[in-house]
Amino acid sequence: MKDVIIIGQGPAGLSAALYTCRAKLSTAILGKGGSSLLKAEKIENYFGLKDPLSGQALLEIGKKQVTQLGAQWLEEEVLSIGFEEGCFLVDTQAQRYQARSVILATGAPRKTIKIDGLSEFEGRGVSYCAVCDGFFFRNKAVAVLGNGPYALHEAMELLPVAGSVTILTNGAAPSFDALPDGISLIQTPVQSLSGDGLLHKIHLADGKELEMQGLFIALGSAGAADLARKLGAVVNGSAVAVDENMGTNIPGFFAAGDCTGGVLQVSVSVAEGAKAAMSAIDYVRHLPKA
Ligand SMILES: Cc1cc2nc3c(=O)[nH]c(=O)nc-3n(C[C@H](O)[C@H](O)[C@H](O)COP(=O)(O)OP(=O)(O)OC[C@H]3O[C@@H](n4cnc5c(N)ncnc54)[C@H](O)[C@@H]3O)c2cc1C
Repeated sequence: MKDVIIIGQGPAGLSAALYTCRAKLSTAILGKGGSSLLKAEKIENYFGLKDPLSGQALLEIGKKQVTQLGAQWLEEEVLSIGFEEGCFLVDTQAQRYQARSVILATGAPRKTIKIDGLSEFEGRGVSYCAVCDGFFFRNKAVAVLGNGPYALHEAMELLPVAGSVTILTNGAAPSFDALPDGISLIQTPVQSLSGDGLLHKIHLADGKELEMQGLFIALGSAGAADLARKLGAVVNGSAVAVDENMGTNIPGFFAAGDCTGGVLQVSVSVAEGAKAAMSAIDYVRHLPKA
């Protein structure tokens, strides 16, 4: 069990790890590549740089700093976060990790999709969280929209409760290894949704219609809002709601950086990472001894 698991290897997560490691908290920092900063060719507006530096170079310096301080560096995609018997459970494709506290630093969401009727049926059949809403679809036909391990994870959550589960890859090739028994796969793009207040049909680009009561969106990898929702944390749109100390409404669960919304800049992410780490340090130090 780690004292702290940080999800995100961008400026917010790296900054948080500097503090938790220096406070002698055992720390794992997970990421799956794709920090926004990798896209920045030149950083000039961050303190202390003699010459402009590429985002990639800045991230490499950060990685060296935190690994030298003892952080465990894990390149794994996080699919879900749970809480059981006093500890957080962080599930990746590879395995389950346990932690006394979690700092979410997964950056700003970038997944967008255009399907006619999607927003109309949000909360009326369209959901973004299988573990939160699966129960409402017991014995009903549901689909999961996505083509990666996260979509498969959501489908597996639904399998024991729903009447049938179909993964809709929306034209993309599936990027998970094998399809478990009981889950169907359709690769045709999705065109629109229809119903009479509640979702009834998913219309595909080849003209076929699927009778479905539920559609779970699981595009790409799980973003901050997806992961936070699974724990019951408050989310405003795509931003995780935090207080001035980067605490969420769940004790021991903190968020920092672009995933909290606001000003999307390195300096702000670094500051929020530091604040989240200080809050996590305080939280872990005050936990009753096991
Ligand atoms: C083109 C461009 C140029 C920019 N230029 C500047 C600039 O000049 N100055 C400036 O201050 N800011 C700039 N920014 C903004 C800056 O890059 C961001 O504000 C900053 O990177 C946010 O840091 P973060 O740690 O919150 O998130 P990110 O840096 O986006 O890091 C997110 C991390 O979360 C991980 N992650 C996400 N989902 C999962 C998951 N499910 N499982 C595991 N890991 C996950 C990712 O792998 C990544 O490591 C620029 C951004 C862009 C796109």
